[in-house]
Amino acid sequence: MPDKDKPLLEVKELKKYYPLTAGITSRHIGDIKAVDGVSFSVGEGESLGLVGESGCGKSTLGKTILRLEEPTGGKIIYKGTDITTLDKKALRQLRKEIQIIFQDPEASLDPRMTIGQSICEPLVIHNIGDDREREEMLVWLLEKVGLEPNQASLYPHELSGGQKQRVGIARALALNPKLIVADEPVSALDVSIQAQILNLMLDIQNQMGLSYLFIAHDLSVIKYVARRIAVMYLGKIVELAEREALFGNPLHPYTEALLSSVPTLIPGARKRVLLIGEVPSPLNPPPGCRFHPRCPHVMPACRQEEPALIEVSQGHSVACHLHRS
Ligand code: SF4
Repeated sequence: MPDKDKPLLEVKELKKYYPLTAGITSRHIGDIKAVDGVSFSVGEGESLGLVGESGCGKSTLGKTILRLEEPTGGKIIYKGTDITTLDKKALRQLRKEIQIIFQDPEASLDPRMTIGQSICEPLVIHNIGDDREREEMLVWLLEKVGLEPNQASLYPHELSGGQKQRVGIARALALNPKLIVADEPVSALDVSIQAQILNLMLDIQNQMGLSYLFIAHDLSVIKYVARRIAVMYLGKIVELAEREALFGNPLHPYTEALLSSVPTLIPGARKRVLLIGEVPSPLNPPPGCRFHPRCPHVMPACRQEEPALIEVSQGHSVACHLHRS
């Protein structure tokens, strides 16, 4: 039985900056701070949701954890081992345990490979099993994601969007991972298909004891799948709480605004908080609290002092001067 309180993954002050250069001497003129000092953990068998507007850095964070992007600073600790600077060989081994499901199932599959070849590719790369064992594994994986064995010979263009994402999930499961980073796994699908894929992912989690880092911009999707939720704004986590606490008692003005934009059938259930202005550039984030140019509660201190992420009640952390003790 997985222990949700035992961290499988710990991310500490993780940073991913992209340097900007100018002129023929490639003079360094600044950094795009896509991820800027993010810390959280994911327990065994747990789903942690990561939510925020597009461009807030959440997908970069997911890729940096997998070392598909190299971190600029901070630490990534998996099963108690620092994996931030693992060499290529050790990283290859690690990729068996940490897999990713991409947003666009179309782009993540090779159009020249059959579904069966795509699903078995990770087994071939890692030299796992012989032909017969891979065949058995393929049938098991297809069944697990609700596809028929005879669909193994089809090509991606012969499948619907939902079926392609099922193939993406089967491919991610092939190496029996412990953690899956799911980067907007349903946002490219029809709404009617989204619930099927989310239910499939939850069923598989229950059966295999997987952990998910579930990245999405859609709060209703995150609410459905995640036990704890981190809200990200301009490269930083601004609130982190259990699902019930976040939805029942949001503390950060940005979280309040996000929640108030979710349609509800209950009249007057939540007053709409309108966000003014655009998300500022991560190249030149505002001083102090990054949310201050858009915050309806801005105070003088917010323009000067960056609020730290502080635990204000059991398991509920927020980075806002309104809630400092
Ligand atoms: Fe708003 Fe200030 Fe809190 Fe930032 S620190 S969210 S500007 S009240």
